[in-house]
Formats: sequence, C-alpha cells, structure tokens
Amino acid sequence: MDVDGSCHCGQITFRAKVDPKLALICHCNDCQITAGAAFTFSIPAAEGTFEIINGSPSKYIKTTADSGRHRAHGFCSNCATRIYSASVNTDPIQYILRAGSLNQRSQIKPNRQIWCNAALDWALVDGVKHITKQT
Ligand SMILES: [Zn+2]
Ligand SMILES: [Zn+2]
Repeated sequence: MDVDGSCHCGQITFRAKVDPKLALICHCNDCQITAGAAFTFSIPAAEGTFEIINGSPSKYIKTTADSGRHRAHGFCSNCATRIYSASVNTDPIQYILRAGSLNQRSQIKPNRQIWCNAALDWALVDGVKHITKQT
C-alpha cells in the first residue's frame, strides 16, 4: 500500500510503499530508550520506495549493543520526531519506517512483536505473535 507521513512540525514529509503484513513491534532496549517509550511500532519500506518529499532528516548512527551493527536513525532536528531507521553501508539502503508518523497508521496493525525477552512486563501486546529475539 502507498503511505505518506510527516514529522510533528511538518518540515519533513515523505512517502513509501509498504506491505502491511510486515508491521511489527520491537521491545528491544535500544527501541525503548530511543523512543522514550515501551516499544516501537515499525514497518519496512519496500525496497527503493522510500522518498523524502520535503526537508532533510538529521541522522544519528546507533551502534547496537549486542551485535555492534550500525543503524542510522533519521529524525527531524526541529521537532525530534523519528522518521526511520536504516541500514548503513548497504546498497540499496533498507528503511524501516516509524509507523506512528504515517498518515495511514490507523490502517496498519502489527502482526509480530520481537525481542519479547526484553519487553517491559506490562507491555506485551495480546493477540500479536511473540518472537523472543530478532526475526
Ligand atoms: Zn519536525
Ligand atoms: Zn528494537
């Protein structure tokens, strides 16, 4: 499906194509901290479809604690809304969109939750498949 979205202040707008079946919740520690929340709700952009329409996200390069992998987090430097996380040094770059910034967020439901071993004990979502660690 076609999706579009923006950061809270509106400086950054973007669009992409997604498969709604791939939406997920991530309970890992990094997601809890960087989101300032119990988990993140995300959906991968289909390869080559993520496009920034307006603005230019700032980037934070995160080093994953257990694997040492790098991920780029794109966010608005004005309002701090997170737009995506992305692979680093891959061709093509794989973007995972933060589903909450999509205008179509009410039409998307997660169908798996990962890193459940790190979940806050009240935060596991009933009725969504549990996966202990990564996919
Ligand atoms: Zn903004
Ligand atoms: Zn995570």
